[in-house]
Amino acid sequence: MSIQIHKVNESRIDEVDFDNLVFGHTFSDHMFQVAYRNGQWNQPEIVPFGKIEVYPSLSCLHYGQSIFEGLKAFRSVDGSINIFRLDKHIARMKNSCERMCIPTVDDELFREAVTSLVSLDRNWIPKARGSSLYIRPFIFASEDYIGVRVSEKYEFFVLTGPVSTYFKEGLSPVKLMTSEGYVRAVRGGLGEAKTAANYAASLLPAMVAQKRGFSQVLWLDALEGKYIDEVGTMNIAFIKDGALITPPLEGTILPGVTRDSVIQLAKKKGMRVEERRISIDEVMESVKEGSMTEVFGTGTAAVISPVGEIYHNGETVKINNFETGPFAKMFYDEITGIQYGEKEDTFGWITNIR
Ligand SMILES: *Cc1c(COP(=O)(O)O)cnc(C)c1O
Repeated sequence: MSIQIHKVNESRIDEVDFDNLVFGHTFSDHMFQVAYRNGQWNQPEIVPFGKIEVYPSLSCLHYGQSIFEGLKAFRSVDGSINIFRLDKHIARMKNSCERMCIPTVDDELFREAVTSLVSLDRNWIPKARGSSLYIRPFIFASEDYIGVRVSEKYEFFVLTGPVSTYFKEGLSPVKLMTSEGYVRAVRGGLGEAKTAANYAASLLPAMVAQKRGFSQVLWLDALEGKYIDEVGTMNIAFIKDGALITPPLEGTILPGVTRDSVIQLAKKKGMRVEERRISIDEVMESVKEGSMTEVFGTGTAAVISPVGEIYHNGETVKINNFETGPFAKMFYDEITGIQYGEKEDTFGWITNIR
């Protein structure tokens, strides 16, 4: 079904201060929407970004049946638009839907929704290096019913908005502390779905960590509190004896698209890649003895976020002298190079719009 487009009468773009963008606050002129009723997705539309009217009995507000994605479009050096790894995000959203009993969206409709919306609001893609158009697809249960069961109605939206680099510090290292006393996700739970509930679980521990001067929580596994999981908005990777080590996809961590991109790049560069469990004790010890030279987070928002310090159980280790290491920089340069069209896209990661 082709998308019906209702354009704004007047763009809001002149109200936007592109030099002082705060992540998540600014939205482009239009949004995509489609409703699921009577067992199928209805007529898809692109409409002016604006309020939606709902009843307070909206089921997702009570039981959290909602999922989302996060991806980006970049202004390529030749002036065209590059969307990064659209198909991988489409596939992941499908998995999240299945875990949360949400009806899946046809791949072709999803692709068309994103490309049409980005193309229509192309003026909103910032030009400065490091900035981009953030794309936020999401689906929520929308039945007016507060009984506990799978909803029969859903809304799928796509919003877009200009963003500059995610961390104020840019590529400068962050401090993490391990998840003392809290858990985020357990095997068999929701950890591998991109769903609101995982974030709800992480807010209090993140606030505690921030009060103590850390930017985020380094989540340890929920059963033993021994193995590294992820950082809650990012996956995590380690460089030890020149090899890339990252926790395996065993159900408790989000299968990050950036994580996958880093793994593919590392393999292409001939690095040894180990997707394996790695304990916090191994990390603390190998940083101290010098074999672990870098730690960094991977995620769409920051691409690569070097970790300069880890606090665990009363002890702090400093990594690479609190400086961005050569591998973090290499992965950052390779990925952003492809995103901005400066480097050849040998992996087929880019959906280009002219
Ligand atoms: C989105 C997300 C990530 C990062 O995934 P990318 O696809 O690389 O952006 C990591 N962890 C969690 C919990 C996430 O929700």
